[in-house]
Amino acid sequence: MAGKPAKPRRPHGARKPGAREEPAAETGLVIVNHGRAALVEDASGTLHRCTARRNVPRSVSGDRVRWTPTGPRQGVITELLPRRTVLLRPDGPGRTRPMAANLDRIIIVVAARPSFPDELLDRYLAAAEIIGAEPLLVVNKADLLDAGRRFAMAERLRPFERIGYRTLFTSSLERDGLKDLHEALRGHTSILVGQSGVGKSSLVQALLPDLDIRTGALSEATGLGCHTTTVASLYHLPDGGDLIDSPGVRDFDLWTCDPVEVAHGFREFRDYLGQCRFHNCRHLSEPGCAIQEAARSGAIAARRLESYRRIVQAETP
Ligand code: GDP
Ligand code: ZN
Repeated sequence: MAGKPAKPRRPHGARKPGAREEPAAETGLVIVNHGRAALVEDASGTLHRCTARRNVPRSVSGDRVRWTPTGPRQGVITELLPRRTVLLRPDGPGRTRPMAANLDRIIIVVAARPSFPDELLDRYLAAAEIIGAEPLLVVNKADLLDAGRRFAMAERLRPFERIGYRTLFTSSLERDGLKDLHEALRGHTSILVGQSGVGKSSLVQALLPDLDIRTGALSEATGLGCHTTTVASLYHLPDGGDLIDSPGVRDFDLWTCDPVEVAHGFREFRDYLGQCRFHNCRHLSEPGCAIQEAARSGAIAARRLESYRRIVQAETP
């Protein structure tokens, strides 16, 4: 069973018109890709262990692919379909690696404890904006907040709400706020991200009550052990919608310091982009900068501009 699946071979560049008829290609959803093989779900929900043709770029969890059956519950991926969004991760200097595809929600989890700097939220929010996914801010462990502290936390998040971000309080311990969270995930493909210790695995467990069963089925279908959970897997949520999860994607970080990209990641900057004196303004200390001016007048929070600068300048030694 563990033997390498035979690779379909073709002479270089040869199209072979009239070669043996292949079964019709189907569209499928990549549940997980372990490298050697990917699990592809067909339209009826059946999983197939698929290898990829050599010229096909590597697919990740959430990808849509064209694939052709080659045997019972086996197939070959022939095409990677265009991605709506892709979550990247830094992978060596100037390089990135895709982690998950076609996400439309990024659930940013913070908690009453451990404490977190606002800048951390800015980084996650920027990442979500850059890939084009809608962020949701979740404050977990709400059970640890008495009325006064809860009010203080809500106040602290108010500036984020003012620029259009939704916030939600949850307690995975007391199963509080989970209905709203389910509601936010319904019909979308989401991931949970955040610092270690904020309760992401607890929330995932609460959202996917039969996670262990599903993980077992996955490892059986791939013939790979459960220890390979650093790769992201896609799970269908009981109420509809999908969750892409792995410890490896939960603690991801922003992968870019490019001023154009990062500025796009601060949504309240957008009204001012293109209004600076210099077309290539980095909004650091250039004269005639519309964004610095907006921060001076209070139209943009000075703290957010400072956060932006720190991200961009991390690159410039
Ligand atoms: P992760 O590192 O973000 O995946 O966090 P975990 O889910 O492993 O949780 C970290 C710790 O916080 C564990 O000891 C959990 O029991 C605890 N925890 C998780 N959710 C809650 C919650 O809603 N309330 C409280 N009080 N503790 C929680
Ligand atoms: Zn500027």
